[in-house]
Order: sequence, then structure tokens, then C-alpha cells
Amino acid sequence: MDFCSIASGSSGNCIFVGTDHASVLIDAGISGKKVIAGLNEIDRAPEELDAILITHEHSDHIKGLGVLARKYGIPIYSSAGTIRALRQQQPVGPVDETLFHEVTPDQWFSVGELDIRPFRVSHDAAEPVAYRFCCGGKSVAVATDLGCYDDYIVGNLQDLDAVLIESNHDKNMLQVGTYPYYLKQRILSSRGHLSNEHAGRLLGEILNDRMQAVMLGHLSKENNYEALALATVCAEVTMGENAYKAEDFEIRIAKRDEPSRMICV
Ligand SMILES: [Zn+2]
Ligand SMILES: [Zn+2]
Repeated sequence: MDFCSIASGSSGNCIFVGTDHASVLIDAGISGKKVIAGLNEIDRAPEELDAILITHEHSDHIKGLGVLARKYGIPIYSSAGTIRALRQQQPVGPVDETLFHEVTPDQWFSVGELDIRPFRVSHDAAEPVAYRFCCGGKSVAVATDLGCYDDYIVGNLQDLDAVLIESNHDKNMLQVGTYPYYLKQRILSSRGHLSNEHAGRLLGEILNDRMQAVMLGHLSKENNYEALALATVCAEVTMGENAYKAEDFEIRIAKRDEPSRMICV
């Protein structure tokens, strides 16, 4: 499988997962134009896409969805609750109804040769999910927009070959920053976003001998910076109660608006 972040951060998210015969995007939270430019940069084309999987209806995950779905007729997969929210709020504009496909958390489905398992995450949206992909005995997963994690999340992220997890904010930067009180509370809540510290702890629970690459994503523009996220996550991994040290792995930041290095597992 090829695995790559096209854009990641509070201003827009779009992740690519593909094989020689199937390719999908997880979210299309940047403009359609930027998605197409990002695909071009990684030598892929929008015409090749077999599906766009949506994690939830927040704008940083769906900004380019309507344009892409209309222009290329790409099937859209998401939970029933997210699809309902997309239809009610109509943020994506008119989209052919037949393009929508409902998926059920904890039930595998297939797009070509990719087997995909959606699983629930705790976030303030209608029915948010994260996705795990499996093909040819290899597994990758994308888990962002979660306020907390538990055994269920950890269980869904076991035995991965590569992962992108959220490392949204530094708690101190958020607390002393300029965000209004209600927004700080929202982000810090169990239905908000994972801090750098929590990302490091979660990573400590899912690292395994197969893991080839880790991307930290969905960084806040206001309440985080790359070096801090990386240092905090690495410190948590190394000091945590697990068998590994951070330097045993390739851990890097998924950039806000440029494609990451292609990870091939
Ligand atoms: Zn969100
Ligand atoms: Zn988001």
C-alpha cells in the first residue's frame, strides 16, 4: 500500500491510500483545486480515485468534497450520521444521491482490493469515524479528530505497518493562547482533539515491530508547532511503559499544505 498525507492540519485534511489497483482519499478538507494539485505532486490523478472516505462533516474535512464528487463522479463513503449531516447542512452543494455509500462502524467493507474498517472516535460531530486499511497482509490507519482514546481505539490501531495520528495541540499553548474560553474547553474536552502528550501516549500503546512509519497530523496552527509536537511525542514514547524508544521509528510531521513523503508498506 502507498500512504501519504496531501494536507493535514486544522485548516484542512486530505490523506491518500492506494495500491496499484485501488486508490482512495480520506477526507477532502482542502479546495478541490488543491486536492488535484496534491495528487499531481504524488503522480496520481483524480480520475483514478475509487472513493472518498469522510471521517466527519466538519469543514476542514469536506471543503473540496462537493467539487470533486461532481466533477469526477467519485463515490463518497461515510457513516449514516455523517451522510445525514452532509445532506441536512448541504455544505457540499448538490451531489448525485447515488454517490453516497453508508458504512457501519466496526464492519469491514471493500473498495477494490482495499479492505477498510471504520471505527468510532470521540469527537463533537454527528457520527465521526476513523479508518483502518488492509491489503496484502499490510495495515495502515488514519486517526484524527478524537478528544480521547480508550481500549477500543487502541485495539483498532494494533499491528499497523504505518499510521497517521492526531497531535493537535500543546496544552499549555492552548491554555494561555488567544482562543475564547468556550473554544479552549471544546478542544480540551473528551470530544475535542488529542494533545501532543496524549498522542505520544497513544503511540506508545500501538507501536509494534512491524511499524515502518508514523505521521503526526492535524496540528493546530495557533496552539502547536512542528518541533514541539515531535519532541513531546518522542519524549512520551521514550519515557513511557513500552518496549520502544522514539528513535527506533521514523516519526514525522504531516505538513499543513504539502504532500508528505510517500510511505510504501
Ligand atoms: Zn472535527
Ligand atoms: Zn478536523
